Amino acid sequence: MNSFKELRLMEPIQRALRDLGYQSPTPIQAQAIPILLKGSDLLGCAQTGTGKTAAFALPIIQGLVRGQRRAKKRCARCLVLTPTRELAQQIADSFRAYGRYLRLSMAVVYGGVGQTPQVKACARGVDVLVATPGRLLDLMGHGHIRLDRLEVFVLDEADRMLDMGFLPDIKKVLAQLPAQRQTLFF
Ligand code: AMP
Repeated sequence: MNSFKELRLMEPIQRALRDLGYQSPTPIQAQAIPILLKGSDLLGCAQTGTGKTAAFALPIIQGLVRGQRRAKKRCARCLVLTPTRELAQQIADSFRAYGRYLRLSMAVVYGGVGQTPQVKACARGVDVLVATPGRLLDLMGHGHIRLDRLEVFVLDEADRMLDMGFLPDIKKVLAQLPAQRQTLFF
């Protein structure tokens, strides 16, 4: 696959990619995007710098937009769990850039900053929630975020999350997810 068009990504996404100067998919994108557009689960191994974020973000955005469901109050349709706040911000920025010509609601939650803006950002429900585990569990515990309607779950930097001792938190999050969902481990 040497073009985003051949990967059957919708025109508003292709336009956003042209804005960013992306000319052709990277190998991980060419491999992962067709599988993810079909709704299959995926275990992807790729290092940072290989275009991993777009490999999952592009098909997720397309799936959410095509699905035409609306996020319910305090619910997320897609959750990306990532180990650090810097990564959470970067991933959220990528989703915003790729989805700039589409209606996509987003929120980012991580610890070390006040909760109120994050609670507000989730109140109406969001298409994409990018989160670090601790703060997510905190907000879930207080009923500010619900994952029972989740459509897509992404565990980013899964290996690093395990190294950092996040397994108990990840298990708690997984326990809240509906059985019927798409799951991606990177
Ligand atoms: P990542 O591996 O997701 O951290 O992405 C590494 C960098 O590559 C980021 O700055 C992306 O904006 C950029 N990038 C991702 N996909 C492409 C592509 N197909 N063409 C050019 N740059 C890309």
